[in-house]
Amino acid sequence: MFARLIVDIANSNVDKLFTYAVPEELDVRPGHRVLVPFGRGNKPIEGFVIELADDALTDRTLKSVIKTLEPYTALNEDQLGLAKWICRAYDCTLCEALRLMLPAQLRGSRVKEKTVRTILLSPGLEVSTARASLLKKDGTPRSPKQLEVFDLLVKLNAPVSMEDLNAYIPSASAAVAALIKKGYACEEGHVTFRNPFTNVVSPDASPELTEKQTAAVECIKAGKPGEVFLLHGVTGSGKTEVYLNAISDVLEKGGGAIVLVPEISLTPQTTDRFRRRFGDTVAVLHSRLGAGERYDEWRRIRLGKARVVVGARSAVFAPVEDLKLIVIDEEHEPSYRSEHAPCYSADEVAIRRAALSGGRLVLGSATPQLRSYFRAKQGAYTLLELTERINGIPMPEVEIVDMRSEFLSGNNGIFSRDLTDKLKKCVSKGEQAILFLNRRGYSYHGECRACGFVFTCPNCDVALTYHKFDNSLRCHYCGFSTRVPSVCPSCGSTFIKYTGFGTQQVEEQLKSLIPGIRVLRMDTDTTGAKSSYRDILDSFSNGGADVLIGTQMIAKGLDIPGVTLVGVVFADTSLFHSDYRSGERTFQLLTQVAGRAGRALSDGKVNRGKVVIQTNAPDHRAVRLSAQHDYKTFFDLEIRDRLRTLFPPFSVFVRALFEMRDEKEAAEVCTDFERKTCEILKNVMSGHNAEKDILFVTSGPAPIRKRANLYRYAVIVKLLRSENTSFAINALRAFADSLRVEGFRGIEINPDDLL
Ligand code: ADP
Ligand code: ZN
Ligand code: ZN
Repeated sequence: MFARLIVDIANSNVDKLFTYAVPEELDVRPGHRVLVPFGRGNKPIEGFVIELADDALTDRTLKSVIKTLEPYTALNEDQLGLAKWICRAYDCTLCEALRLMLPAQLRGSRVKEKTVRTILLSPGLEVSTARASLLKKDGTPRSPKQLEVFDLLVKLNAPVSMEDLNAYIPSASAAVAALIKKGYACEEGHVTFRNPFTNVVSPDASPELTEKQTAAVECIKAGKPGEVFLLHGVTGSGKTEVYLNAISDVLEKGGGAIVLVPEISLTPQTTDRFRRRFGDTVAVLHSRLGAGERYDEWRRIRLGKARVVVGARSAVFAPVEDLKLIVIDEEHEPSYRSEHAPCYSADEVAIRRAALSGGRLVLGSATPQLRSYFRAKQGAYTLLELTERINGIPMPEVEIVDMRSEFLSGNNGIFSRDLTDKLKKCVSKGEQAILFLNRRGYSYHGECRACGFVFTCPNCDVALTYHKFDNSLRCHYCGFSTRVPSVCPSCGSTFIKYTGFGTQQVEEQLKSLIPGIRVLRMDTDTTGAKSSYRDILDSFSNGGADVLIGTQMIAKGLDIPGVTLVGVVFADTSLFHSDYRSGERTFQLLTQVAGRAGRALSDGKVNRGKVVIQTNAPDHRAVRLSAQHDYKTFFDLEIRDRLRTLFPPFSVFVRALFEMRDEKEAAEVCTDFERKTCEILKNVMSGHNAEKDILFVTSGPAPIRKRANLYRYAVIVKLLRSENTSFAINALRAFADSLRVEGFRGIEINPDDLL
């Protein structure tokens, strides 16, 4: 028997199958991780078995597999199939694709299984004789402690850990040792799993579903293998309850499920909801787990002890057996795209995985990606809708405040009079408010009034942000920071002005506006430590503050009953980007933030949430239509514009990026790449009679021309989306692969931003 395997080295030179002989006594199957001698020195390295073969297809004598690393196969059939697809689709080595499926700790055996010592009565022990020998002639114990331990072991009649035993009978170890020596008790090593959950939850049952929820669940249950559903439901419409019921059905039929939620909302609040319904069969996978916990959760899934996985993006690779359902909640979240190579997006991977495992995929959102809704309308996905909130809770009342007229009438503060009034009322009633601003720090840039000099980052081509708490100017791209200069470096004037504002300034003005108000702030400046994100949220939901101020981190998934007011301090921060998706993003963000208001019943009453959106662009459709909770009209208008301008989903952007120390060289390499790209595309597309699908090819400096001392130049290709798109992309990929230029960052398809 021979094994064809991939060695665990992420280098394209060794990205091929190597054949090894399998010794008779080894049980090796596809998916096993094995140790093999490799290279001239025959250094033992780890490898993944991809397939078995009866024939070595060579006359050379082959090296042999040394051993399997786990008794079980680390990868199952679906995962092997998925990995092969990933390396083609995302242009990486098979090794890199396989690594996505395993906890990093497994490789190189960096964590060990955790074992506990357990004590039990020796099997076959004659209990009464043994007990008698522990007593003196007068019936009193020779050693009271030994007798006590012995009686406990008899009563339990099951292995007990030393830790538990000591809890029953303090300092029992000497007595245990004595009983073992006498041959009455014995000890075993037991493998256990580290538990990532710190709390115990009480079970709950499903509420009676509404008619709409029932219809959605039935549709999903009846879904065909590989079918994709788009569950479009307003915030608080009971989408999660639909997922839970669909999962119940899968579990009853012996299958498993994966639920992806955005990393940021993977809070105990979220996972507890699944644990209450499904108990110990729930495993979690996210970046805040310790190495041992992550390894053990992975093993629990692999060994079938956990059949429901709740996790962040990478949980789409979890080794669930008989995977019958994948759910992606808040499917519009950008965090479902990986920024590190291989740059996969979780929904694409999930579509493929569902097809391989014969499962179904549910994408859920109040504001689906335009692309997903478009696919649903075209019939590629099945559309399910929940149009109302549960319990008749009305959608929040949204009011738009035009900050231009506010300014003209003499108010140049951050808060409109209207928002100020509402904040005061809210706080005086003991309710809570959330203030949202998508800009951290204190104020935007520093500028010299005398000469117009703007403080910019010496490494990047962007303005520095003023941070008041440590009186620094910082670059949000490279981390550069410097103390605030007291004079203008250009003209020596001391007249330096700071314009714009961030979350810090919101906090300050709020405190002076409403003295005594208790404020918590959450942005990447305040959530540096691993747990502080949770700490801030916990503190706020326990009533530790009246107002929570935050960046987009607070836009998602928060469900705090006390919150009745949401203020969007300035909606325009994401609106006038040079990105064609900025309207879509703003609509999503505003809808999500507004969804945080009035989600629950306070004191049994329906408390309709209020939302105030401050903006300089009250007529922009992203602002206007999100205020009216009108996704469909927004979709119709937006998709019409995308069609008119031929932007995605009607076209595809391909970007090739170069980052180099020398600007001239970057520009030259880029022009060269552009020329070759044109040739290649013309060649390929004319073969398919589709030259007209090439909309344009351009090259030049990226919008952020310099970052961390590197000059950034890009080639951008825009292609009409058609049945020929993949030919063009494959040809460009092949070309990019063959290119050996230092500073070439590879090509990206529809990158998330073109900065
Ligand atoms: P979404 O995921 O769409 O935001 P959820 O599933 O979280 O909505 O539901 C919102 C709230 O309504 C939750 O507190 C949930 O427990 C409750 N809920 C959902 N469905 C029902 C139902 N059929 N009956 C009663 N309460 C429900
Ligand atoms: Zn100056
Ligand atoms: Zn910088």
